[in-house]
Amino acid sequence: MSIAPQTSFLYHIEEKSGEKVSLCYQCNKCSSGCPVTFAMDFPPHVLLRMVQLGLKEKVLGSLTPWVCASCETCTTRCPNGIDIARVMDTLRQMARVAPAGAEDIPKFHEAFLNSIKARGRVYEVGMLLEYMFKTDVWAKIKSREIIKETKLGWEMFRRGKMRLFPHTIRGLEDIKKIFEHKGK
Ligand code: SF4
Ligand code: SF4
Repeated sequence: MSIAPQTSFLYHIEEKSGEKVSLCYQCNKCSSGCPVTFAMDFPPHVLLRMVQLGLKEKVLGSLTPWVCASCETCTTRCPNGIDIARVMDTLRQMARVAPAGAEDIPKFHEAFLNSIKARGRVYEVGMLLEYMFKTDVWAKIKSREIIKETKLGWEMFRRGKMRLFPHTIRGLEDIKKIFEHKGK
């Protein structure tokens, strides 16, 4: 018996993520705990329903997996043990290119990972500068967005949440090995 196209999308996601998306019964516990639904086009439980229904183009064109902060709150709340954060990772990998409105998010991830790779922990100032220069820094200056971000940075620094100088952890070699392993 051949598998209907909409069903094969669900199977494909389940196979790639190792998560049983078909078990989701729409209780909404994931979305009600998610801290970033305000920035998503579909909350996590709706996106999972769309995967079940095989709405491939809508799912892979959604902002939601790119906005997801991988905090795993949804994963810990799901009564069916679905690792939703892992499903979001899989969707990002499958979509490859971020949709309109989320083009800068992969650049932020890249700057974040480069910072971890270089020092074993995030150096916020360096990461933000790298992110700024990877994105359209002039557009940010023109739109005055940069002023808002500088104010936020200053507040974080003032409250001791951001260091001025980088700090490298002991055991950096182990972190580098993780990156080398991931690249294989
Ligand atoms: S892992 Fe992503 S989808 Fe889940 S609660 Fe966190 S931000 Fe929301
Ligand atoms: S918490 Fe789990 S079962 Fe409930 S809607 Fe979210 S994914 Fe589905």
